Amino acid sequence: MALREMVRGFAEKEIAPNIDRWEKDGLIPLDLHRKAADLGLLGLGFDESVGGSGGDSLDWYVMAEELVLSGRSSGLLMALFTHHVALVPVAAHGTPDQIAKFVRPTLAGEKLVALGVTEPGGGSDVANLRTTARRDGDTYVVNGAKTFISTGVRSDFVIAAVRTGEAGHKGISLLLIEKSSPGFEVTRHLDKLGWDCSDTAELSFDDVRVPAENLVGPENQGFRLIMELFESERLAQTVMAYTTAQRCLDLAVEWARARSTFGKPLIARQLVRHNLSDMARAVEVSREFAHRVMVRVNAGEALVPQVCMAKKQATDAAQFVADAALQLHGGSGYMRDTEVNRHYRDARVFSIAGGTDEILAEIVTKWMGY
Ligand SMILES: Cc1cc2nc3c(=O)[nH]c(=O)nc-3n(C[C@H](O)[C@H](O)[C@H](O)COP(=O)(O)OP(=O)(O)OC[C@H]3O[C@@H](n4cnc5c(N)ncnc54)[C@H](O)[C@@H]3O)c2cc1C
Repeated sequence: MALREMVRGFAEKEIAPNIDRWEKDGLIPLDLHRKAADLGLLGLGFDESVGGSGGDSLDWYVMAEELVLSGRSSGLLMALFTHHVALVPVAAHGTPDQIAKFVRPTLAGEKLVALGVTEPGGGSDVANLRTTARRDGDTYVVNGAKTFISTGVRSDFVIAAVRTGEAGHKGISLLLIEKSSPGFEVTRHLDKLGWDCSDTAELSFDDVRVPAENLVGPENQGFRLIMELFESERLAQTVMAYTTAQRCLDLAVEWARARSTFGKPLIARQLVRHNLSDMARAVEVSREFAHRVMVRVNAGEALVPQVCMAKKQATDAAQFVADAALQLHGGSGYMRDTEVNRHYRDARVFSIAGGTDEILAEIVTKWMGY
């Protein structure tokens, strides 16, 4: 409760008054990372031995729920907490030097990280990525490109999935690549349907020399590390999705009470009340199921298909409730400057990022043995 209240205070003071401006700017200020770090929020869920503030995944989900509810944007969460997913392999498998140089400053809000897996040639088929890292003495020479990379415009370094070995999933490694390295370029700041305050980049690597000591985990074991971080990513997106649904329901109820047509408030109409009931059901079912999965995963259970189901369930809820809430707002809902409009646009991404609906369905059926 104390955590939730602290996060609410932070979101109401630092985020809600500024979010519209940051959405127009297409990014959030570095200053916000420092403020979140000072409160221990950036380090939440990371062990104190790597510079984190302790706590577990469940604490992180509480914080994430409150940031979306009171900060009024899931894109903000993506922009401020890219490291929550990107740093997972470095915090778990990094060397003491990597922890000191990359993890600690990021959790202190002094450096920004991005996760570079997706390439112009494809994102779902991770095993076939094409960016190469050829070993040359004490360095790797990296060539290739990454796209749709969250925080890629602002980040100081990228944890990139690269091919160091044979074709397929057994030839992939993770490398920490600093933005200042010659040959590393942000080729585009991408314009999106939603998540406007979360900058998204296209990156290119042209003979970028990366010290071999920046390899994370063993060479050619990167695919396994990426699969590990996908669990964090999918659960993070699950929270964003069911909380977006909750926020849209709250906005819809508020609007239905305030708006009168034909002499009565909208909420007095049976049709509207039944719609609100359907929306509330979608929120409850997705959140309750997600909470059960999160508690079990946090306790150490491997629940790959259930995590995929939780994300899909929450995604459906977010898109259904955001659409219904927008409809209830009438013309106002169609206007970009309304909050419900932002959530409607933002909710679309949950079907794509962190594993598309189709790929999650493939994982579920495979694990269920169908
Ligand atoms: C806003 C945003 C932020 C992102 N941030 C990051 C980031 O920080 N880092 C990063 O690495 N990536 C990021 N991504 C990329 C994201 O992970 C990919 O977009 C996603 O994995 C899908 O890859 P793709 O876009 O290349 O689509 P593709 O893999 O080309 O797929 C295209 C379509 O085909 C479907 N499809 C593919 N294979 C199959 C199949 N076997 N059966 C049925 N259907 C199939 C997919 O579901 C999809 O609908 C981000 C994306 C977005 C939109």
